[in-house]
Amino acid sequence: MSADGLFLGTESGDDAYREAMDAAVQAVLDAYAARSEPYSGVSPDALAAQFDEPVVPEDGRGLDATVDEVAERVLAHSVDTSHPRCVAHLQCPPMIPGLAAEALLTAANQSLDSFDQAPAATVLEQRVVDALCDLFDFPSAADGVFTSGGTQSNFQALLLARDRHCARRFDRDVQAAGLPADAESLRVLCSEAAHFTAKQAAHHLGLGEDAVVAVPTDDEHRLDLDALDAALSDLEERDAVPFALVGTAGTTDFGSVDPLPALADRAAERDLWFHVDAAYGGALALSDEYDCLLDGIERADSVAVDFHKLFYQPISCGAFLVRDGDAFRWMARNAAYLNPEDHDEAGVPNLVAKSVQTTRRFDALKPYVAFRSLGRSGLADLVDGTLELADDAAALVDAADDFELLGEPTLNAVVFRYRPREGMDDESVSRLNAAVRRELLEDGRAVVARTDVDGVTSLKLTLLNPTATLDDVAGTLDAVRDCASAVAEREVAV
Ligand SMILES: *Cc1c(COP(=O)(O)O)cnc(C)c1O
Repeated sequence: MSADGLFLGTESGDDAYREAMDAAVQAVLDAYAARSEPYSGVSPDALAAQFDEPVVPEDGRGLDATVDEVAERVLAHSVDTSHPRCVAHLQCPPMIPGLAAEALLTAANQSLDSFDQAPAATVLEQRVVDALCDLFDFPSAADGVFTSGGTQSNFQALLLARDRHCARRFDRDVQAAGLPADAESLRVLCSEAAHFTAKQAAHHLGLGEDAVVAVPTDDEHRLDLDALDAALSDLEERDAVPFALVGTAGTTDFGSVDPLPALADRAAERDLWFHVDAAYGGALALSDEYDCLLDGIERADSVAVDFHKLFYQPISCGAFLVRDGDAFRWMARNAAYLNPEDHDEAGVPNLVAKSVQTTRRFDALKPYVAFRSLGRSGLADLVDGTLELADDAAALVDAADDFELLGEPTLNAVVFRYRPREGMDDESVSRLNAAVRRELLEDGRAVVARTDVDGVTSLKLTLLNPTATLDDVAGTLDAVRDCASAVAEREVAV
């Protein structure tokens, strides 16, 4: 097999690139043209049966045939994230500037670990990070790095928090010497509605999930301050030592935003690292109308923000920002082949020391292209529009006799239950809503999320699509009703 037509920079390669990209683009457009529902409804077994041929055949079939095969077996059975009735998760329709950026950055294949692997990309990522620090009103000493998303950003936050604390309190260099003997006393505080990655990070950091104290929430699913104060006193009595407080700006189920200014006060009083998980809600910083929801975020020690959610960028794309860039020293290391110390002295920017990754994608190009092409106001309009649609959708659910709205949306998540009869008991409601969700996925007419509220199975619409309308929401609710009827008919038949 020759390398002919396989690599850029040769005549045959350039032609092959153009043809391959055209074929890929055409396959995507054909898949959209052929689809009317957000999912084909095909079962896991039927999907598995499509891939019974060897993944690694002895001889290749060529690219054209393979792209056709991917179109037929993968694209046709993917959830259509751009469909207005695809409303389950924080999985956005990717915006076209982001898709163009993705094509540019993949072809350039820069790796952000060292300057010599990504000269302009290194400088540009830093510029985008600086702009994000400005967006969150961080001081000039702030810094950050692009991440795979909120999981990695939250992990980095607790890593820096833990190591700063251990240095101050135990004079312990965790990077070199590992956890101190007293590590069992360390605690992280967050609300019970915080993302599960707080616990996951505590596990990965050797503290264990039990180190995370989940503080109860108030009626609007925000961290309850009285409960926080009680938890802090309780820890003190038990000689447990909190070192970090995590506030969430946009919880997964209800989109609620914790009282950030009060959390910043508590963190300052107790010398806690204050991390704001704004993976979901960070985009509110763009909006003139909703940015007040993030008041207090500028006092955080660190912020997690995702671009593959309300910023409409293709997966994956997130950033981790720290108020004092010097804090990266808790994780920095020098590798002779990437960022030798004399580079640091000569001012060569190597971003590897700020990341838990080594080879790293140039994901910063996606928000850059989006910001430059749409401007802040263009992006803010998208965010505002989806939040308004969520309000209208909640009103629609509330007005319907057979639906039960579970709270006004803060952001763009609408949580509700299908409850066709007043007085239907919670256990039956749970069973029905779980069955409806399954039926919806098999039917493919709407992709809706399921969650648990106060022990009762509930449904959730995450309205991320700026092209969706209230009619689309009504269509999703009708799909819920139809699936509930189908479930009921089957049960009668059994
Ligand atoms: C999405 C999300 C995460 C996880 O982020 P990934 O980008 O999936 O890694 C963490 N916290 C919150 C609040 C989120 O919305």
